[in-house]
Amino acid sequence: MTMDALIWATAAEGGLRLLAARTTDLVAEAQRRHGTYPVPTAALGRSLTAVALLAAMQKGEERVTLRVLGDGPLGGVIAQGDGTGKVRGYVQHPDLELPPTAAGKLDVGTAVGKEGFLHVTRDLGLREAYTGSSALISGEIAEDLTYYLNISEQTPSACALGVLIDRDGSVLSAGGFILQRMPGADESLIDQLEERIKALGPISRFFQSDRDVQELVTALLGDLNVQILARKKPIFQCNCDRERLRTLLKSMGPEELASMHAEQGQAEICCHFCNAQYLFTGEELLALAEEVKTTPSAE
Ligand code: ZN
Repeated sequence: MTMDALIWATAAEGGLRLLAARTTDLVAEAQRRHGTYPVPTAALGRSLTAVALLAAMQKGEERVTLRVLGDGPLGGVIAQGDGTGKVRGYVQHPDLELPPTAAGKLDVGTAVGKEGFLHVTRDLGLREAYTGSSALISGEIAEDLTYYLNISEQTPSACALGVLIDRDGSVLSAGGFILQRMPGADESLIDQLEERIKALGPISRFFQSDRDVQELVTALLGDLNVQILARKKPIFQCNCDRERLRTLLKSMGPEELASMHAEQGQAEICCHFCNAQYLFTGEELLALAEEVKTTPSAE
């Protein structure tokens, strides 16, 4: 059985860099968690795949956050990934419905909007973060990301992201790649690579027929002296937990906790990133308020 996987490779004596991933199971899990409708599933799945690729060269838990903030009815799309392959994310309006495009495709461009920005934040640890941004081109996300990589990160790049969705709204296949030309690369490769990308067809279709990510690497770079630098397993996984939310509630202070108890009797907290629900009962809220009161402050 084919599984989700991500490969980071170089080829042509370091002149080319490829990040490629099959993300079918990851996107299916995101769809299940958020209950997204087809167009939001496609936008979220493309963004989750993009951030898995962008984060692939980070070390360990160093994070990359992708924010696609257009003026369309979908609202923002937020995706976050780290160097271990963990990815999480959400869309603002998971139940958006839109008619298909004239070509019968999911209209991600209209959902996201054509005006707005794409932001990529690389969190390099040591409390340092670098954010780069570029204007949206089409709202289709792969095109917007390509533009970002070329303009903001100044690396000549080609990029494809795809999610194929069944009639019942479930995810059939998903994946993508970022192919980049490094300084000093042989320019004569460009035409050849463009031909190969064209021959691939839509990336989601590529993975629909049980092919794995190694086959994608071979299809793109086959004879160009490929060196695999890393293999990772991309997975939808959030790092929220009850303990973090306890800390968050405590930071609200005893008065706020007491008034939550008085007004709602309990607290229901939802994690945006994975849609997990956490319930804190009235007794728990009061106990937390007591804990805050009796814990000496750091001042
Ligand atoms: Zn979560």
